[in-house]
Amino acid sequence: MSQPNYAYFESKIVPYSEARIGVMTHALNYGTGAFAGVRGYWNADRKQLFIFRPLDHFKRFLNSARILRSALTIQPEELVDITIQLLRKESYKEDCYIRPLYYKAEETIGVRLHDLRDEITIFAIPFTRYIPNDESAHVTFSSWRRVSDNAIPPRGKLTGAYVNSALIKSDAHYAGFDEALVLNEDGHISEGSAENFFMIRNGVLITPPVTDNILEGITRRSIMTLAREELGLEIVERSIDRTEVYICDEAFLTGTAVQLAAITQVDHRPIGSGEMGEATAQLRDLYDRALRGKLSSYEHWNQAVYVD
Ligand code: PMP
Repeated sequence: MSQPNYAYFESKIVPYSEARIGVMTHALNYGTGAFAGVRGYWNADRKQLFIFRPLDHFKRFLNSARILRSALTIQPEELVDITIQLLRKESYKEDCYIRPLYYKAEETIGVRLHDLRDEITIFAIPFTRYIPNDESAHVTFSSWRRVSDNAIPPRGKLTGAYVNSALIKSDAHYAGFDEALVLNEDGHISEGSAENFFMIRNGVLITPPVTDNILEGITRRSIMTLAREELGLEIVERSIDRTEVYICDEAFLTGTAVQLAAITQVDHRPIGSGEMGEATAQLRDLYDRALRGKLSSYEHWNQAVYVD
């Protein structure tokens, strides 16, 4: 993976080689950090780089930091401006991935959240696909359980919680699957290792509620808007049983990195026809156009980086 040329680090944009932390850094030792994953999309016709819903990402990011008792007063709008400056400095003219990271920066020993210095860093790298097989993903049910709101809240995108995602992802990988769905302790589906989950049964789009230990995904929200407004689909947020996935008509995963990946098999059982479903294909197309500033009614989701 290529490295960035610059990073926002300790309140200024510096060469990436200067954005370094010590091994005693609290977040590195105890997982006391929170992050975001944002994407920039290059529109070649308009010669413009569009960041997708950056304000929503930074609002969620600062809320994640609040869960960790952040004392920062920086506003989400300021973080959007810093990101624009960083991308201009990188002068990317291709799709890219932006990683804001909040972390407890104190170099000290002792597990806690209080009396620790807060820092934010942001960097961006060129990026294309996350799940190579995003048109016919084969998923399994992970043998791991999702972390829960009363243990490590998945609502915050907390660095330490991603050990759970990493266990889920690597076991699925070595078992030969593209991804895994993970169940809550109560046996209902929460999400994928780093994606929200949707299925369609009898024409209704169904997804777990935000109280089922999911990350409140920005792609999830965008897809729900597109499904409702553009396809007129009924949407229901409710807990989902494992066997519902076996008998649903269509299923897919959403996330900033994966975008919208069609699930066509679960544990060697075909979903619906065993090929990408019609509504899934329509939503993929709509979402792809929305990301690149090609859907005029959703241009408020696109933040231009360069001055026209
Ligand atoms: N769930 C988890 C656990 C994730 O890490 C992500 C990726 N950020 C998502 C869902 C999707 O969220 P979003 O659409 O905001 O990227």
